[in-house]
Amino acid sequence: MTKLLRMPSNPGQAVAHEIALGFDVERVRADFPILQTKIHGHNLVYLDNAATSQKPKAAIAAITRYYERDNANIHRGVHYLSERATAEFEAARKTVQMFLNALHPAEIVFVRGATEAINLVAQTYGRATVSAGDEVVITALEHHSNIVPWQMLCEEKGAMLRIVPINDDGDLILEELDRLLGPRTKIVAVSHVSNALGTVNAITDIVQRSHAKNIPVLIDGAQAAPRLTVDVQKLGCDFYAFSGHKAYGPTGIGILYGKSDLLEDMPPYQGGGDMIRSVTFEKTIYNKIPHKFEAGTPDMSGAVGLNAALKYLNRLGMDNIAAHEAELLAYATDAISRIPGIRVIGTAKEKAGVLSFVMEGVHPHDIGTILDQEGIAIRTGHHCAQPVMERFGVDATARVSLGLYNTKQEIDALVRGIHNIRKVFA
Ligand code: PMP
Repeated sequence: MTKLLRMPSNPGQAVAHEIALGFDVERVRADFPILQTKIHGHNLVYLDNAATSQKPKAAIAAITRYYERDNANIHRGVHYLSERATAEFEAARKTVQMFLNALHPAEIVFVRGATEAINLVAQTYGRATVSAGDEVVITALEHHSNIVPWQMLCEEKGAMLRIVPINDDGDLILEELDRLLGPRTKIVAVSHVSNALGTVNAITDIVQRSHAKNIPVLIDGAQAAPRLTVDVQKLGCDFYAFSGHKAYGPTGIGILYGKSDLLEDMPPYQGGGDMIRSVTFEKTIYNKIPHKFEAGTPDMSGAVGLNAALKYLNRLGMDNIAAHEAELLAYATDAISRIPGIRVIGTAKEKAGVLSFVMEGVHPHDIGTILDQEGIAIRTGHHCAQPVMERFGVDATARVSLGLYNTKQEIDALVRGIHNIRKVFA
């Protein structure tokens, strides 16, 4: 049992009057009802957290409570429930602001997920600033959702997508970033943590190099927000995107952080209710930020669930979660690398949460299917990062991705499972 008792490094970031309670993984597991599920007669070993994480009772209960007590449409009604629902929704925004250490709640835009956040920036900031002959810089580590929106934009505008390469360990080659950043570069978009390899990118460094040339930076934080302390002011980034469902919150809700001056200048995303101040057939005046980017009825219960999930993470302490996962990752990497015929894909200097591997003579899908028979859930495939697979000369990997509730015993079960597969296929 891992027991760490450390306070978050930035207590100011913890949600008001929430005190870090320390980290006891057995107590934490009791907060996640799904972990009691038996799969094919075995205890569930859930190691697919990079795809989506399981939900604590606190988040599930908050959603139920919202529908049982508070539900009404927000920002419009003068009646009691509408005001209460609005207050809940805006309280969630405040929690996200503090979770990311953003300067102001208006810098937090509710979207469906990281994918929509990136599309929003590409379709508003991107469309307004990128012209024919301009360039957008991304990296060879990106998830498809941080490739395709930029590719679509470049295609529409006649612009060029430029790619920062990675080395054989899965680290970005930052000297190449310097070479690629030029007078035509309009934005840099890079993941904080790679979902395929687990590489943690040197965001502060990337932001400094880009800002030195007056180029804004978007960070895809889908894999970082659930496992690292994120401080957008320290990182210095201009945009930060993450998904609620990977951060122990519900599906259907996600976050775009944007610096207020950038958001103010950006054209709106979708048109509709709530994003307007006034409408006539001649002219529409848009609402102020962040509402300008939130057309239509938003996912209110999703915001409420995310609020509860982020408060839960704050109570555990993001530093404690990061330390717990780091210990598990080192333990798993050591054990899995020792298995004959295994090749770990992604050996970056700094990694978080993700361990990808291939096994000689066994397709990753077979590994995943056989482990499932023992109740062990891992992901196999290209992980929506086909360029990463191509870079390493594989079409798929088996990916173990950690969550705050995983244990060394679960890693032992995984390692036993992989040994057995080896015996069957040997
Ligand atoms: N970026 C990264 C690094 C991811 O891992 C994912 C999800 N796998 C996404 C973006 C997209 O997230 P969502 O599907 O929740 O929008």
